[in-house]
Amino acid sequence: MYLYNSMTHKKAEFTTHTPGHVEMYTCGPTVYHFAHIGNLRSYIMEDVLEKFLRYAGYDVNRVMNITDVGHLTSDADEGEDKMLKGARREHKTVLEIAQYYTDAFFDDCRKLNIKRPDVVQPATGCIDEYIKIVSRLVETGHAYLAGGNVYFDTSTLERYYVFNDHNEEDLAVGVREGVEEDTNKRNKNDFVLWFTKSKFEDQALKWDSPWGVGYPGWHIECSGISMKYNGEYLDLHCGGVDNAFPHHTNEIAQSESYLGHPWCPQWFHVAHLNTTDGKMSKSKGEFLTVSLLEEKGYDPLTYRFFCLQSHYRKALVFTWENLDNAQGAYQKLLRRIAGLKGEGEADQAVLAQYKEKFIQQVGNDLNTSMAITALYDALKAPANDATKLAILESFDSVLSLSLLEKAAAIREKEAAQASTQADGYRITGEGDPAVDALVLQRYEAKKARDFAQADRIREELKAQGIEITDVPGGAVWKRS
Ligand code: AMP
Ligand code: ZN
Repeated sequence: MYLYNSMTHKKAEFTTHTPGHVEMYTCGPTVYHFAHIGNLRSYIMEDVLEKFLRYAGYDVNRVMNITDVGHLTSDADEGEDKMLKGARREHKTVLEIAQYYTDAFFDDCRKLNIKRPDVVQPATGCIDEYIKIVSRLVETGHAYLAGGNVYFDTSTLERYYVFNDHNEEDLAVGVREGVEEDTNKRNKNDFVLWFTKSKFEDQALKWDSPWGVGYPGWHIECSGISMKYNGEYLDLHCGGVDNAFPHHTNEIAQSESYLGHPWCPQWFHVAHLNTTDGKMSKSKGEFLTVSLLEEKGYDPLTYRFFCLQSHYRKALVFTWENLDNAQGAYQKLLRRIAGLKGEGEADQAVLAQYKEKFIQQVGNDLNTSMAITALYDALKAPANDATKLAILESFDSVLSLSLLEKAAAIREKEAAQASTQADGYRITGEGDPAVDALVLQRYEAKKARDFAQADRIREELKAQGIEITDVPGGAVWKRS
């Protein structure tokens, strides 16, 4: 597989520390509110990446954190803990908020066919790991105490900005929001590893540490959790592009200083989902969630299909019109799959050939729009329906669009709607009584040998894009 690497700014062949095995880490959600569909764009693309790696033959260990402490309102360690803010907003405890929004996140994931990573670890469960790392960083002179907090000293690094091809706006995210400068810092980019002093004395969760009772900074959790479950050599680290700085930059700084060797050579960043007014954000009042899509009558998988149509490194603009277009295309695709009969044996040689091509095409920097094109190619394969279904099923193990299940549901619905009319005439259609009535009228006309009238009705339906096929004992109609 070839993958763009944000650390080298190049597309290169994907490699792993242990051949055939991938240690993969994903920054998980901050569980102070619902995930918006922008967050979920990142998780969808990371899910496809994981599934593609498995499809291409890798064995994958994927780890994800749940941020339930330490993520302050500014990514640059300033302001109040987001969890505390969430708890106050909803008159609940921080733990209640964390549980509620963690469950909500995995509910959204389930609806979007996002697989649960092999390891999911809330940040509050690994405090000893962070203390171990921070202690060593203090001992080795990479960290210092000031004003009660422990800071990482970025001046001890040869290179700090490793992702410097991101645009200014993304880099500025951590220093926006007009918070005062922290005068304890020796260098502008130094960041907090452990807080004991905060302007917000009501910080709910605190732990004892060699530096006093306090709580971890946001960045240390990902280093600690990753090292615990992925080991000292991580192959692939993922997140949304806004995480590149300062979060991932700081993760690298502290992990490599702690380990004394390179930590993760490959970084995968998903570009943002934007609205027509700019970046999607939870602080802008009402925001777009999976539940909102459902309330408006969309199948959440329509949103997954919409995301897959675009490349993960391109910013994607969300509008209802764009989603409607995706919905139309997705439904049409399902309808075509529903039309496959599945009779006969799948041709294994053809299946293998299609799989090979899929790996090559999608393996070119996770080209998911090409993967969607591959579905249409499968429908046109010079093979029987059973083979086409086998190819689609195989591709869908990566894309997770529930293609076969949804197509089967369409077929079942149609069968249930097939109405047995007077004298056993069966109409099988798409569940539109007005169309069924016309088809029946045509049958009555033919029975009365009024062929001109029967033809007129057929033409009328054709003008509405409806094709009728006469079958023994009835008729089948479908929209073209
Ligand atoms: P958070 O819950 O804020 O920690 O963010 C969860 C994930 O969503 C992170 O990987 C972010 O980088 C990513 N993310 C945040 N905003 C967007 C967006 N508008 N589009 C895509 N990904 C995003
Ligand atoms: Zn992280």
